[in-house]
Amino acid sequence: MSLTGKTALVTGSTSGIGLGIARVLAGAGANVLLNGFGDPTAALAEVGSHGTRVAHHPADLGDIAQLEALFAYAQREFGGVDILVNNAGIQHVAPVEEFPVERWDAIIALNLSAVFHCTRLGLPGMRERGWGRIINIASVHGQVGSLGKVAYVAAKHGVVGLTKVVGLETAASQITCNAICPGWVLTPLVQKQIDERIANGIDPQQAQHDLLAEKQPSVAFVTPQHLGELVLFLCSEAGSQVRGAAWNIDGGWLAQ
Ligand code: NAD
Repeated sequence: MSLTGKTALVTGSTSGIGLGIARVLAGAGANVLLNGFGDPTAALAEVGSHGTRVAHHPADLGDIAQLEALFAYAQREFGGVDILVNNAGIQHVAPVEEFPVERWDAIIALNLSAVFHCTRLGLPGMRERGWGRIINIASVHGQVGSLGKVAYVAAKHGVVGLTKVVGLETAASQITCNAICPGWVLTPLVQKQIDERIANGIDPQQAQHDLLAEKQPSVAFVTPQHLGELVLFLCSEAGSQVRGAAWNIDGGWLAQ
């Protein structure tokens, strides 16, 4: 399928899953606006290697003014956003009574509120152009809980709820809104959780195996490429009647 002429904004795409999705969308012909922290040079080169237009905007999506500046930039430079992938997210693990209030606020702001803000800012242009895709990278933690992840699980359940409402509000149009719920994907966000096990004296290979085996029956990681291909399907005509869904891709995690 071809996404030539479409513009995709992938939030949090200087690393991990977002970078993988951006690469697949550019490979299908989309112009891509990257966002995220850190030096974007490598991501720009990787995503730009397909010959489509690629740019990076450094907005901190925890800040509403910066978020609005990102959409103004997308309008000015790309003529708007046709495919919005709400991917940026952070994690913090601690029991609820020890959970730092500042971490709660930051996780809710980025993992949930930024999805709302990007949607409200991106949707009017999609309605004007008569086509759009909003794809929210939620998590299996949008459907089940895990110890120590109170803010993340609350935010991701919120994203799944938001997705249903936006899916309904766009149901009679050529715009769809869906959530993808990945299990473990080996990215810096998850490597941090593996490193915590290693710091407790567990062998690195064993730490990775244990993390997977506790939750993911396949004992294999989902990859950013798998997620990019699922995003591509949701952008296709065959995906046009998937609406308001929370689509798990999790090595069997939620089947248990
Ligand atoms: P990652 O840490 O590799 O990448 C996160 C990206 O978000 C980076 O580009 C980072 O710069 C950006 N970012 C962080 N804070 C930001 C902010 N305030 N404003 C703008 N950008 C910001 O993480 P990842 O594992 O690729 O996670 C991406 C998404 O996938 C997250 O929403 C995460 O919850 C979700 N997810 C990850 C997994 C997994 O196993 N890795 C599983 C399920 C869901």
